[in-house]
Amino acid sequence: LPTVAIVGRPNVGKSTLVNRIIGRREAVVEDVPGVTRDRISYEGLWNGRRFMVQDTGGWEQDAKGLHRSIAQQAEIAMNTADVIVLVGDGTVGITSGDETVAKTLRRSATPVILAVNKVDSEKAELEAAEFWGLGLDEPFALSAAHGRGTGDLLDKIVATLPDRAKAADTAEGTPRRVALVGKPNVGKSSLLNKLVGEERSVVDNVAGTTVDPVDSLVELGGKVWRFVDTAGLRRKVNQAFGHEYYASLRTKGAIEAAEIVILMLDASEPVTEQDLRVISMAADAGRAVVIAFNKWDLVDEDRRYMLDKEIDREMSKILTWAHRVNISAQTGRAVQKLVPAMETSLDSWDKRIPTGVLNSWLKDVIAATPPPMRGGRLPRIRFATQATTRPPTFVLFSSGFIEAGYRRFLERKLRETFGFDGSPVRINVRVKE
Ligand code: GDP
Repeated sequence: LPTVAIVGRPNVGKSTLVNRIIGRREAVVEDVPGVTRDRISYEGLWNGRRFMVQDTGGWEQDAKGLHRSIAQQAEIAMNTADVIVLVGDGTVGITSGDETVAKTLRRSATPVILAVNKVDSEKAELEAAEFWGLGLDEPFALSAAHGRGTGDLLDKIVATLPDRAKAADTAEGTPRRVALVGKPNVGKSSLLNKLVGEERSVVDNVAGTTVDPVDSLVELGGKVWRFVDTAGLRRKVNQAFGHEYYASLRTKGAIEAAEIVILMLDASEPVTEQDLRVISMAADAGRAVVIAFNKWDLVDEDRRYMLDKEIDREMSKILTWAHRVNISAQTGRAVQKLVPAMETSLDSWDKRIPTGVLNSWLKDVIAATPPPMRGGRLPRIRFATQATTRPPTFVLFSSGFIEAGYRRFLERKLRETFGFDGSPVRINVRVKE
C-alpha cells in the first residue's frame, strides 16, 4: 500500500490528525519527547483507496536537537513515503522549526501537502494564509480535533497517491507480494541476485501488471512473484543511510506491503535480538512467513546443534508455525525449496473453514477438553465463525471470558485438524452473557 507520512514539529497535532485520518483513536495523542512508538503505521481508507499513514512523531526530539531531528524526520519521509503531509500550527504561525522542515521538503521529489492545524474558525482561516510563506503551495486549513477541513485534506491526499496503489490491491492472477527482510548482511541481496540471475525471465512485461521500479518481478517455479521494495536491496542504498530506525521503517513498510514475508537469518551466527524483532514484526502484521536460514554452507555440526537450541529457546516463543528452509544464497543450495514453502504458507493464509465444519469440530474439541471454569462457572462457547482470511481470523461467541491458555490450546487444535502451516491464526472472543 502507498504510504502517507505525517511530519511536523512536536505539538502541532500530528497524532490527532493521524487518528482523524484513520478514523479511530489509535495513534498516541501526546507528543511526548523521546517516546518511541511501537506502531508507526496505520491503515487508512478514503473514497475507496487504501493507504498507510505513517506517524513520524516517535522520531522527535532526540539528543541531536529539535531542528536536526525534524529535518531528519523529513528526510526519512522523503525516502519512504509516497505522499508527505507537513503539519503546522495555525495558532502559532510559522516558526523557525517549520522553516527548517520546509526547506528540506522543498527539494523533495515526493509530493508534499501543507496542512495548517488548529484552525477552528473562519477567522482563524485567514491567519492560516501566512503559511503560503513556506513556499509549499496552498496550505490546507483544518482542525484535526474537530474534523473541520479534514475531508478536503483527505481528498487531496488520495488524489496525490500514486497509481501503484491500484495494482497493490490483490486480485486473482496478479503476482503475490513478497517481502524479503532480515538484518543487514544476512544475504538478502545475494539471494535476490541469485533469483534474478538464475531465472533469466525477470518479467517486466507481465499482462496486467504495472512494474513499480521499487519492486522486482521474479519468475520462480513457473509463477511470477512481486518482491516488494527491493530497490534498496539491488542498489544497497539502505545501508548507506544506515540508521536503525530508518532500516526498521523500511522493513515495516515492506512487511505491510507484502502478503508473505521471507525472513532471512544468518545461520552461521547466533540469533540476535534484532532477528527476533523482525520476526515479531512479521507475525504481528499477520503475514504468512517463511524463515530462511542462509549461509548454510558455513554451518557445521556444532553450529547446527547450537542453532537448534537457539530456535527452541528464543524463536519458538514468537512463532512456531513458519516453514524453515536452510539455504545458501551464495552456492544456490536448496534455494528452490523456498517456492513450495511460500506456496503452502499462502494457501494456509488464504484458507477458509466453512462455518458448519468449524462448529462441529468445536463441539468435539470442547466435549473432550472444556474451557477452564471462571468464577465457579463454565464459560459456554456457543458458536464460532471464521471472520476473515489473510490471515485466518476466528471469532468465538462465548458466555464468559476464555483464558489465553485455552485460546492457545484451540489454536493448536485448529492447526492440527485443518493445517495452517506458514500462516498466523487469530482467535478473538466475544463475550455475551
Ligand atoms: P544483505 O545485507 O542482507 O543484502 O546481505 P548481502 O547479500 O550483501 O550479503 C552479505 C555478505 O554475506 C556478502 O559478503 C555475501 O557474499 C555473503 N553471503 C551471502 N549469502 C551467503 C551464503 O549463503 N554463504 C556465505 N558463505 N556467504 C554469503
